[in-house]
Amino acid sequence: QVRVYSRSEHTISRAQISENALKVLYRLQKEGHEAYLVGGCVRDLLLGREPKDFDVATDANPDEIKRIFRNCRIIGRRFRLAHVHFGRDVIEVATFRGAGDQQASDLQVLDREGRLLRDNIYGAIEEDVWRRDFTVNALYYRLKDFAVIDYVQGMADLNAGTIKLIGNPETRFREDPVRMLRAVRFAVKLGFNLDAECQKGIHSVVDQLASIPSARLYDETIKLFMSGYALQTFEMLSHYGLFKILFPSTDKSLSSKDGDVARQLVTRALQNSDSRISDGKTVTAYFLLAALLWEPVQMRAKKLMAQGVDDYMAHQDAANEILAKQIKSTALPRHITMAMREVWNFQAKFDVRVGSKPSRLISHPRFRAGYDFLLLRAETGGASPEVADWWTKYHLANETEQRAMTQPPK
Ligand code: ATP
Ligand code: MG
Repeated sequence: QVRVYSRSEHTISRAQISENALKVLYRLQKEGHEAYLVGGCVRDLLLGREPKDFDVATDANPDEIKRIFRNCRIIGRRFRLAHVHFGRDVIEVATFRGAGDQQASDLQVLDREGRLLRDNIYGAIEEDVWRRDFTVNALYYRLKDFAVIDYVQGMADLNAGTIKLIGNPETRFREDPVRMLRAVRFAVKLGFNLDAECQKGIHSVVDQLASIPSARLYDETIKLFMSGYALQTFEMLSHYGLFKILFPSTDKSLSSKDGDVARQLVTRALQNSDSRISDGKTVTAYFLLAALLWEPVQMRAKKLMAQGVDDYMAHQDAANEILAKQIKSTALPRHITMAMREVWNFQAKFDVRVGSKPSRLISHPRFRAGYDFLLLRAETGGASPEVADWWTKYHLANETEQRAMTQPPK
């Protein structure tokens, strides 16, 4: 059932492959090993897109890879692989995974939920292919004769625009629930559909996502929301019930009685981020995260204030509580939570428009982010447009004008 597309039957040419990836492939071959490109790079090249990175698959095991490349590091425990470094460029080299036998072994570990905790049994390409997630991610480009090897009818799914799991979807999602997030990420990025079986699989395994370590979920969340298609991603994640596992407090705030304001802010933030990326501008994770968690903090702060806590402390405590809760779902690095707090703290400070405080505020390194957040709130009905306009004028004004603007009224 294997289909081999010879060099003339597909569109991949060596000129499209990164020099470093080619170096790795040729070197492996020269040392007597099999060498293939696999995964996202083959998929993207066949679709006429530029690959984000190049992944190599080989029959050489990690120790052999290490012996061949001096600029090489072995990473991963759950899934050992080699990173071959060329300055800042990294080529990921994975040894073919084998099926193993049904018996438990140190090398391949499944837990009671069917989750694959470790997968370090090596094998041949005919076994490796079944361990990959989606058919469109399981096409191999063989260096030896420049052919594309297709064991799983991935080429047909690529042409049809379908994300389809290899094997039984429910089993494969249980092995690694993160595959549900990957399915959404690829569907949105490529404009593909999830096939019916894949959708059914998500519906029955969705809750298992909560069992994934929060650090891994943070990494996936960043990939999902910094992709340039954050809004569509949010909608699709919500549709499948995946969003509420990643952002439980946000999900609750969206269905609360002030849910409309919350939804507008979130939607607008994601939209802005997408258009910035398409304009080639930078986006920061903390800004998006600050927007996602803003309403939950406000809701919590309101409750605390109703209990008599003063305004300032209520907001600080609410921020602490919401962040502490969020970290259980997606671990947030410390520099991210610090930046989020700064953006939030700015919002109350924008109310003060007399005296020396405004001039100190605009020289703060995080002013721009705080101000952008204020604009976002003003646009979506959460802050006064008049205040936002004042700050727009103020930070663009010269010093004399600025002094005049901050005079106390006589
Ligand atoms: P991207 O464009 O994000 O790089 P990719 O498909 O290359 O997409 P990677 O995370 O780089 O994704 O992984 C490379 C390949 O390894 C995938 O295409 C897939 O074949 C396999 N793979 C990665 N993660 C998993 C997983 N969780 N389960 C099964 N196979 C996986
Ligand atoms: Mg990749």
